Amino acid sequence: MKFENSLEFAKGLDQADPLKVFRTQFHIPQVKGKPCLYFTGNSLGLEPKSTRKWVNEELDDWASLAVEGHFHSRRPWLYYHKFTKQGLAKLVGARPSEVVAMNHLTVNLHLMLTSFYRPTKERFKIITEAGAFSSDQYALESQIKLHGLDPSDTLIELMPRKGEHTLRTADILGAIERNSDQLSLVIFGAVQYYTGQFFDMKAITRAGHRAGAIVGFDLAHAAGNVPLSLHTHGVDFAVWCSYKYLNSGPGGVAGAFIHERHGNNPGLIRLAGWWGHQEKARFQMKKGFMPMPGADGWQLSNFPVLSGSALLAALEIFNDAGMAALRKKSQVLTGYLEFLLRSISSHEEYFSILTPPSPSERGCQLSILMLKKGKKVFARLTEEGVIADWREPDVIRVAPVPLYNTFVDVFKFYSIFKKALL
Ligand SMILES: *Cc1c(COP(=O)(O)O)cnc(C)c1O
Repeated sequence: MKFENSLEFAKGLDQADPLKVFRTQFHIPQVKGKPCLYFTGNSLGLEPKSTRKWVNEELDDWASLAVEGHFHSRRPWLYYHKFTKQGLAKLVGARPSEVVAMNHLTVNLHLMLTSFYRPTKERFKIITEAGAFSSDQYALESQIKLHGLDPSDTLIELMPRKGEHTLRTADILGAIERNSDQLSLVIFGAVQYYTGQFFDMKAITRAGHRAGAIVGFDLAHAAGNVPLSLHTHGVDFAVWCSYKYLNSGPGGVAGAFIHERHGNNPGLIRLAGWWGHQEKARFQMKKGFMPMPGADGWQLSNFPVLSGSALLAALEIFNDAGMAALRKKSQVLTGYLEFLLRSISSHEEYFSILTPPSPSERGCQLSILMLKKGKKVFARLTEEGVIADWREPDVIRVAPVPLYNTFVDVFKFYSIFKKALL
């Protein structure tokens, strides 16, 4: 699309946007009495207006039914995780039996590593991206130590080439191949939280498998942001949170994917709890864990119904909008932001964009590396009602989310940013 640098042009794009109605389905926070310019859907998605209804229904059923609600509420609590399956499966490109909503992201990561990181004397190394989200780093380190190994000769953290900000796919594949004799696990953030790089999941999965390793992904910044095909790509496992692009609210219930070739193997080692036990026999409370088939067999505890109801509200919106349409708008919306930023004269003096320029290698986030005046610009943005994200030491992350951000939002952001720079 040929973009133009004007408010009128941005307004025109909004008018023609087939998804424009979805913005009206969200609460937009106010700053100084005006709707803010919200660009942090990658940290905490906005609250859908429908969420209150879904949560209130559970509160009402709890009030009127108490324990009987497990069987007799409108969405019986005993089976609640099942109501999320269809929506989650669609979002991550999986079969419903391969996904489950449970716990929180880091907990799920530990559960998956317990099952899928089984180092031997010969195969024990892990390849991941350098600078992964802290929680993922801590999870990997502690899992390595749990097996009595030393992270320093177990964990291979891939860095971009000198002078580059993101990893080249060929370099990732090369490292996997070079380490194929000792490689146990390949694990990446599907969309890197800091740079916004969307890795080539298909190529990484294929290379990992060719090397004889297990391949997993953290979808924290990918679920609800980019199209995913976990089943078709043959990914072994994945985990995600639901409070970022999925808009399920702070601390919302997370998710996990286990490919069916593993999910239906009851012999696979796992940390077990009663909710993963055969549903029919669960209340017999007998000795001897027998996992349910599929991802359900990794559940530990009974389902968090209140946060799960907020997830259902959010999944309904994704179902209505459709990931294909969202992706289409997202690429234009983020492309427009990039176009405007690059139109600022001598912008190379002030900032560079870390996120890959190719729309297929990113989601909706741009990470702007500030070369000058970073803190000042960020303070100015905040003052003008922009909610964006500052990452030490010098990066501003901006995420125009196609469900609720507009082209006018993007244009206003650019105008404020430009004024603050010059
Ligand atoms: C947001 C995020 C987390 C947060 O973990 P929680 O367990 O949900 O607190 C972890 N990893 C990545 C990559 C993230 O983006």
